[in-house]
Parts: sequence; C-alpha cells; structure tokens
Amino acid sequence: MTTVFSEPEAVPVSYVRQYLFCPRVPWFKMVEAFEPPMPSWVEQGKRWHQKQPELQKKRQIKGLQTPYQHQPDAWVESRQYGLYGYADEVLHNSRQAVAVEYKHDKRPPSTAQKLQLIAYLLCLREQYPQHEIWGILYKGGGKKQYRVEIRPDDIERIKQVVQAIRANSQSHLLPESSAQAAQCDQCEYLRYCNDR
Ligand code: SF4
Repeated sequence: MTTVFSEPEAVPVSYVRQYLFCPRVPWFKMVEAFEPPMPSWVEQGKRWHQKQPELQKKRQIKGLQTPYQHQPDAWVESRQYGLYGYADEVLHNSRQAVAVEYKHDKRPPSTAQKLQLIAYLLCLREQYPQHEIWGILYKGGGKKQYRVEIRPDDIERIKQVVQAIRANSQSHLLPESSAQAAQCDQCEYLRYCNDR
C-alpha cells in the first residue's frame, strides 16, 4: 500500500502542535534528526498516556452511538493536506467517527492542542468521507471531555503551519522563535538552543 508517509512533503500531525509551541522543535527533528534524552516528566506523561485506552472503554462519549469500535494508536493520513500520524484513539460506528487525544497537563486546551486534533480530523474525514466527524480532547485527570470540530479558519491555519514546517525543513538555519523563558524552561531542547 502506498501511503502519504512515503511522500517527501508529508508532515507528521504532531509537528503541527510542536511548531505552534516553537518552530524550532520540528526543525530539530526534521533537519538535525535529533531527539533529546527524555526528561522524567515526559516519561510520567507517557505512562499516563498508556493507561488511557483501557480507561476509555469505561467512558461515555456524548453523541456517539453504541456499539462502536475502539482503535488505539490509529494510523490516519490526508493526501489533501499532506499529513499523517497516529491518533491516540479512533472510535467509530457505521456513521460516526471520533478522534481522541489525551493530554497529561491540567490546563484548558491550548490552540496548539486543538489544531493538532483538527489535523487528525482532516485525516479522518478522508478515511470516513460519509461519516459525522468530531474530536475529543481529554486533559489532566481525563474526566472532562472537550469537543473539537473542524472549522474553516482552523483549516487555513493548519495549511499555513504545514507550509512553514516544509519551508523550515529545507533550511539549515535554526528558525526564528518567539518562545518566552517560561516555554524554554519546559522544553527538552533548551540545552541545544545556543541563543537561550
Ligand atoms: S528552548 Fe526555547 S527556543 Fe529552543 S526549541 Fe525550546 S522553546 Fe524553542
């Protein structure tokens, strides 16, 4: 099977959120092929993440008719937008499909987290063109559901971000960043950004 992954211009959906956090993060990954050692808080988040699909079986999704299938770590891709990746979970029945993302932090959903989920929804829409599509973001304790839907403005923003990521991937210069000290302090790449 030929997938969008094999297309050189295709961008992982996770890079959309990372770019919005700081354009340098996907640049380090694409150009330098560099992943820093994982700090303990990321390990903690990963363990929390791994428990979620099992918990998900006990949760009710508002508006999603039962029975439905659970697909953890679901591969999704969009030829139209040149995106691909693994959504944390996809739930689907014969006429509805929901992409689920889990985020360990307890803050309200950020724009970057919402746009990442919408990018997954754009992929899901190609896979299930006749289905009603929406996304659910679980934050912190995983008790509160935030419903996310595709809006035209968000599609335009995602297109811009994907273009910018592609352009940066062609450059060997560290991209400009407006990241503030609070962002850099929680960033795994801090030791590798010489100007911070
Ligand atoms: S340390 Fe700051 S400038 Fe460097 S990649 Fe992280 S957020 Fe961006």
